[in-house]
Amino acid sequence: MTRMQCVVLKEAIDHKPRASDFTLVEADRPVCPDAGVLVRVVHLSLDPYVGSRLRGRHMGEVPPEPMKGPIPGAVVGQVIESRSAMAAEGDWIQSMEGGWQEYAALPSGHFRKIDPVAAPLSAHAGVLGMPGLTAWAGITQLARVGKGDTVLVDAAAGPVGGTAGQIARIKGAERVVGIAGGEEKCALVLDTYGFDACIDYKKDGWREALKEALPEGLSVFFENVSADMAMTALSHARPYTRGVLCGLVDAYHAQAQSQHALNAGLIIGKRAQISGLVVYDFYARWDEYVAEASPWITSGQLKFVEDRAEGLTSAPALFERLMDGQNKGKAVVTVSPEAS
Ligand code: NAP
Repeated sequence: MTRMQCVVLKEAIDHKPRASDFTLVEADRPVCPDAGVLVRVVHLSLDPYVGSRLRGRHMGEVPPEPMKGPIPGAVVGQVIESRSAMAAEGDWIQSMEGGWQEYAALPSGHFRKIDPVAAPLSAHAGVLGMPGLTAWAGITQLARVGKGDTVLVDAAAGPVGGTAGQIARIKGAERVVGIAGGEEKCALVLDTYGFDACIDYKKDGWREALKEALPEGLSVFFENVSADMAMTALSHARPYTRGVLCGLVDAYHAQAQSQHALNAGLIIGKRAQISGLVVYDFYARWDEYVAEASPWITSGQLKFVEDRAEGLTSAPALFERLMDGQNKGKAVVTVSPEAS
């Protein structure tokens, strides 16, 4: 049987994943499933939820078996064998059910065919992939951002935050303010994503700077980091502000499960509408999002930045950087060249 390389956990973990927790092994290449496709993995997306999943802390999903199951991950790849009416050999697909492996077997219904021409292929790992869909869902479907809104987004240099702020602008927001860690990330948010202001929360005096950046307050906040940060946002809110709770990345690796306390009095006083976001609810609308957003990429209205590494062997180190919040843009591993 043909062999392939994949990355697995050395043993079960209950700490923030480190590069040393992973190892590269050889395994049998999967066979094409009945009514499915066999795919050559080209781009692999690294995402924060995988860090929680490896510890059995994500949406009830089981962690991979140490030394056996590939680390789960979203992939962009090319079909090399098809027994599915949904895609033919040579077609390009995106799937949330790939992994850190060279080949993936995907049943029909577990992948989407993508257009390799409308946007760069790697964009389907980030800005047109799950992070972009998350941003679109929060900004357009939950917060319903429109003309005149002032929007605050944290983790603003990342694929969810950066895309959320840009889509808010495209949808008519009057002012878009980001929060990010460090000068380099803030420069990316301002100069590439085109936010009006970006506050570096690692700098002394950032709370005053945030106040100054929101002279009229905010009408929408998009929370990626913590309940504390959401309450900071709410303290700058106008009445009837809409808040999207998308992620709590600051707590993903805490030993004890945090209570994520929200200030109920502040929520009432501001008459705030707070929505929890789970992107799974919007998977059925993925093609609609891609059709809307691809022209924004072509026209330059929607920019994306990748923190790219080459080869499966580089996945653990890039993942450690992501877990530490050191990534600058979307973490993507190119597993094999686009041209076959
Ligand atoms: P990302 O921005 O590339 O990475 C996370 C960022 O969070 C880091 O770069 C870092 O940016 C910030 N951060 C703050 N405290 C951190 C900490 N203690 N450890 C690590 N990072 C920390 O990630 P992303 O893929 O765009 O995702 C952003 C958020 O959306 C995450 O919370 C993710 O879980 C969430 N999400 C939710 C859904 C959903 O369905 N609800 C779907 C996708 C993603 P700074 O240096 O700027 O602080």
